Amino acid sequence: METIRKIVIVGGGTAGWMTAAALSKILGANYAEITLVESDDIGTVGVGEATIPQINIFNRLLGLKEDDFIRQTHGTFKLGIEFVDWARKGHSYFHPFGPYGFDMKGVSFHAFWQKLQTLGVSDSISDYNLQAVAAREGKFMRPVQVENSPLSTIAYAFHFDAGLYAKFLRRFSEGLGAQRIEGRIVSADKNAETGFLEAVVLGDGRRIEGDLFIDCSGFRGLLIGQQMGIDYEDWSKWLPNNRAWAVPTARVHDNQTPYTRSTAREAGWQWRIPLQHRTGNGYVFSNNFIDEQAAMDTLLQNLDAPPLKDPMLVKFQGGHRHKFWEKNVVAIGLSSGFMEPLESTSIHLIQVGIAKLLQMFPDKGFEQADINRYNRLSVLEYEYIRDFLVLHFNQTERDDSEYWRYCRNMELPPRLQEKYDLFRSRGRIFRENEELFNDTSWFAVMVGQGMTWRGYDPVADVMSDEDVKRQLFGIKDAIRKSSDYMPTHEDFIRANCAM
Ligand code: FAD
Repeated sequence: METIRKIVIVGGGTAGWMTAAALSKILGANYAEITLVESDDIGTVGVGEATIPQINIFNRLLGLKEDDFIRQTHGTFKLGIEFVDWARKGHSYFHPFGPYGFDMKGVSFHAFWQKLQTLGVSDSISDYNLQAVAAREGKFMRPVQVENSPLSTIAYAFHFDAGLYAKFLRRFSEGLGAQRIEGRIVSADKNAETGFLEAVVLGDGRRIEGDLFIDCSGFRGLLIGQQMGIDYEDWSKWLPNNRAWAVPTARVHDNQTPYTRSTAREAGWQWRIPLQHRTGNGYVFSNNFIDEQAAMDTLLQNLDAPPLKDPMLVKFQGGHRHKFWEKNVVAIGLSSGFMEPLESTSIHLIQVGIAKLLQMFPDKGFEQADINRYNRLSVLEYEYIRDFLVLHFNQTERDDSEYWRYCRNMELPPRLQEKYDLFRSRGRIFRENEELFNDTSWFAVMVGQGMTWRGYDPVADVMSDEDVKRQLFGIKDAIRKSSDYMPTHEDFIRANCAM
């Protein structure tokens, strides 16, 4: 067994620097030399500003001071996503972080809420989630330890400037000994017998040797695709969006919402992400249903402040590499695949890729069993997220454009139909194999998109009608009071982590 001594990371976008930071922190400079190569000429995608709560695990792993991290990335806090005009025009709902209420007598909270509806109480499900109520009122604070209070379990993530985040992680990684090389890679040397990569070669002739190569080169997939020949599995039939216009606008005073907004449009959807110094906006669309110019016009007509620069077009294809790891090359970030940013999952997938790599970290023997497991789990992770995304597009009343008619009638991925069938019968949801999105998320979006159920879960009758009402109204009241107690999002930032 020979230990890996040289790790070469190709690319210095979010994926490259997250990988460099985590490997530097966990393995340390004494274990292996970590070199990151990036090209200033090529640059990074530079979008990607919304996250999900799992990023806190990554930040804790690195030992980051959160206020410092927010300040340096001009970040804000995120309690969930508001979906406007998705189920139908004029309708909106909230997909919050954290659970609705809590389970009682071993029965899920949402079963009791469904029973409550049958009893003629038409409370919104959002009233039972502190993040949703606080978001509606522009409130935020970190959890505090108060027994039996929703304030002790506030779940949150961040919005931040992706470029500043990469810079922040660069300083962190270099501080732990990672080396950065600037230059454009023009070719690579492979061992003719084994097919393993030996070195990448820069335009000026420099040769950077490695034992393990991590491809963070973005959509071009410089190593995994171009060198290792691993093809891309195209998911356009399920995720038809393939373009995005992105444009920042000036910060709108007092409108630093502690949530992302996603508004459905004629042929896609528009994001709005508030940062401390500006707001990120973009229109994700399919050019099979709207041309690029019309999409750009739509975006520019629907901004809440003047643009700070010209919109930037990003082209992509939903899907993933057939293999994420081949021989001594592991692809992390956009080089491994991409699903549109509707539920802010890309940065999370980078984090999962790094975590799995550390779990199955190779020696120079590169055991095929480790590689196979890594690849199998990566594909599954993608498939579960894909199904959740498809739900948003497919379950809608909208039929006002060719795009929405396509989405409503698309062929479903196999596992999704089973989820629909279970929900439509007794409102049941099952989280499969630790898939990323839990039953709260599925419930929020299924109810939000207007799905209905034939009857509530019969085990909700373990509590009498009166008890269900009393318990649920008590939960709602505690959430209401907790939100009243919270400071506004702007005040919280001002007091703790203003840039
Ligand atoms: P890139 O940022 O493209 O970086 C690639 C790196 O490789 C660069 O440093 C480049 O210089 C280098 N490189 C490439 N070729 C060479 C070469 N020949 N020689 C040397 N260096 C080279 N994610 C979220 O989690 N939340 C979001 O809200 C979100 N929004 C998004 C919106 C859009 C429209 C898009 C397209 C993506 C979004 N993402 C989001 C995804 C997120 O932007 C990416 O996952 C993230 O930025 C990682 O990108 P990357 O590092 O893989 O690639």
